[in-house]
Amino acid sequence: MKLETAHMRYLTPEDFNVLEGVERGSINHELVPTSLIYRLSTMMKSQGGTNRAISDLAKLNLITKIRNAKYDGYKLTYKGIDYLALRTLLANDIIYSIGAIFGVGKESDIYKVSNDQGETRVMKLHRLGRTSFQTVKKNRDYLKKNDMMGTNWMYLSKIAAGKEYEFLSILHEHGFNVPKPYFVTRHALVMELIDGFPMRNLRRHNFKGRSLDKLYTDLMNFIVKLAKSGLIHCDYNEFNIMIKNNINDDDVDELGFIVIDFPQAISIDHKDAEYYFKRDVDCIKRFFIKKLKYQPRRDTVWLDESGFGDGYKYPYPIFHRDVTERVDNLDEQLQASGFNKKHPSEQSNDIESALINMRGEKAEIYTSDEENSDDDDEYGSDEYTDDSEDSSDDYASDSESESDGENERIIEALSSGVKELKMDSMGNYILE
Ligand code: ADP
Ligand code: MG
Repeated sequence: MKLETAHMRYLTPEDFNVLEGVERGSINHELVPTSLIYRLSTMMKSQGGTNRAISDLAKLNLITKIRNAKYDGYKLTYKGIDYLALRTLLANDIIYSIGAIFGVGKESDIYKVSNDQGETRVMKLHRLGRTSFQTVKKNRDYLKKNDMMGTNWMYLSKIAAGKEYEFLSILHEHGFNVPKPYFVTRHALVMELIDGFPMRNLRRHNFKGRSLDKLYTDLMNFIVKLAKSGLIHCDYNEFNIMIKNNINDDDVDELGFIVIDFPQAISIDHKDAEYYFKRDVDCIKRFFIKKLKYQPRRDTVWLDESGFGDGYKYPYPIFHRDVTERVDNLDEQLQASGFNKKHPSEQSNDIESALINMRGEKAEIYTSDEENSDDDDEYGSDEYTDDSEDSSDDYASDSESESDGENERIIEALSSGVKELKMDSMGNYILE
């Protein structure tokens, strides 16, 4: 949805106090009754004042009045929670001004922001429940199918932002090439701006890095190193890998990319770890074959196992062959999904279902036996020579690119303030 901050400066501290009251009430009330708002708006001296604030907030669509069978009450809207998050970011000097929207992800809006030093950063507003921009109807079917219709998406967006912040913090601390996170509040995460572009825009002819061989092997090594530390990304594809604009040529070890978008990552102890690992590897393989026309050659004379692809023994990593030793337990430190299968954490089913949705469900057809023949025989098969534009079902990006045009129209519409953008009751925008 549109981040619309025009009224922010007209809100009084009292208005914000009432807005926070509604937010607090939402923790255990689907609809917050007015009587509870009175109690939770700690700074308000009179009911009259509170009523006035409630009516102003409702007029600005920061809260919305809803009736259910038992009582009337108010619900916080996405715009309301945006205001609360922004206020906290401003008060903590994390951001000073908000720039244009410059990315719309599957489940988020990305803005450029700057702090009071004039440094540019990225603010990611998680917006779960918006599974795709394709028709709302399809969206609804999807929700129904997964029985997530009555889900509190706003709450889950907060969880996703918190998780992503934790993933990025620990990975950044451990030297993984991910954006440095600065702050998280509610559904808003502020992080380093990557000077680069999504790998989906990379083509053979415009590649300026050192070599595609190196990029390929570094990308595969990243997956393996991450897994040895306990984690699988689960959405490792050309949309979530940023190619750096500048690489320091003096530093041969510097990687040419940064990996983003982590909330759905899982533990290598997850029961479907092998499946997700393979899917991440396949996304990279396919992108290199289809879009970059790059095919890692297989040559039995090479014995080097320190990388994958051209010049190395194996063309790509396989979970049970290449992730045999653990070097770290980041999953345990993070309590990533799937960690500690025997003692499931208290995480609610809703959270787990939402994360499963973010990952994309495991395909029924897969059985781990399929991949057990990991000796060299399987390589060099048609898989590697097939260059046709097959409509592979499990290639997440294929379906994503279908809606690319629509996404771009939404970004366009958002940045130019076009009127035809409508919102559904959740506050997500709809293109008609
Ligand atoms: P989603 O979970 O919705 O897919 P992402 O985290 O992948 O969200 O972000 C969506 C897009 O925004 C990315 O594909 C990328 O183009 C851009 N983006 C996200 N984070 C950053 C960042 N830190 N620096 C630069 N661009 C970013
Ligand atoms: Mg993404």
